[in-house]
Amino acid sequence: MDILVKIKKAGLVGRGGASFPVADKWKAVKKAKGAKKYVVCNASEGEPGVAKDSYILENFPEKVIGGIKIAIDFLKAKKAYIYINHNYHKKFSKNLIKIIDKAPIEFFIKPIESGYIGGEESSMLNAIEGKRIEPRLRPPFPQTSGLWGCPTLINNVETFYNVSLVALNQYKKERFYTISGDCLWTGVFLFPDNWTIEKILKETKNYPRFPFFVQVGGEASGEVLGSRQLRQPVSGAGSITVYSMMKHKPENLIKSWLDFFLNESCGKCTPCREGVYRLREMMDLPNPDWQLFSELLTNLEEIAFCGLGIVVPVPIKSYLNNVLVKMPASKINLRKLDKKTICECFR
Ligand code: SF4
Repeated sequence: MDILVKIKKAGLVGRGGASFPVADKWKAVKKAKGAKKYVVCNASEGEPGVAKDSYILENFPEKVIGGIKIAIDFLKAKKAYIYINHNYHKKFSKNLIKIIDKAPIEFFIKPIESGYIGGEESSMLNAIEGKRIEPRLRPPFPQTSGLWGCPTLINNVETFYNVSLVALNQYKKERFYTISGDCLWTGVFLFPDNWTIEKILKETKNYPRFPFFVQVGGEASGEVLGSRQLRQPVSGAGSITVYSMMKHKPENLIKSWLDFFLNESCGKCTPCREGVYRLREMMDLPNPDWQLFSELLTNLEEIAFCGLGIVVPVPIKSYLNNVLVKMPASKINLRKLDKKTICECFR
């Protein structure tokens, strides 16, 4: 059976975070016109709290390279790049080179200074082409105009691993989950892709006995869910971070998310460059204007240029709506402002 048919039948979705159907992406690159085609494996894994690609590269490198080789054959691609972060290159490249053998696959080490945005797919293309590392305007999408304007297939490490399994008829609708935070058994686990957050925490003996909430899909951009919202599958890059209610002060958590985004913003667009800066600044004021705070978040959601800016409101708004509104006012103390004022602004 043709690999595309097999991938479609398996219902494979991308595991970089966006869950885009893999067959649709492969088909689009196959159909796109171009004298040359490229394949890129994104092994940059920059989201805090997500470590599954590292685990896969360490334990199943032959499956990852196998998936890339299948993509090269299918697309008759000129070359594939493994866009890899510095640490993973140091740890895994020796072994990967042996498996690559004579296949047209090269490493491109993600520049350290590019930060989180260096893992965004269009910034990644700019980095490989030697251009300034910032997101590109889309469309056109990489499927039709990627590396040097040629059709380019970009998939994540776990996706190529899954393609290998599909080709070998070994795919079992499973995915890797990274568990971190205030729990005993942190690490990377393999379970069916439809398991709920609750089931995964129980199965790994990580279900807390203390009041808690979780963040799924990354410790920076992931959505925050209360302990009564766990009967749903894990979204995004497949991570669960557990937070003890006793340990984390709302103010510090919001500051830590904003610090991350402030540090990682590439500065290309105003809503993110200025907006995140102002949001972080407001967190240090004795009486933040929560209405303005909420409007700056909405601005980011609606007009930021790329995914990094768009996701800034996700952890903050979901934390406020799913956790903070249900907490006793005495536990909040967000610069001593009353809970009612804050929550009304975020409606
Ligand atoms: S939202 Fe704008 S400033 Fe922020 S990372 Fe994206 S392009 Fe850069």
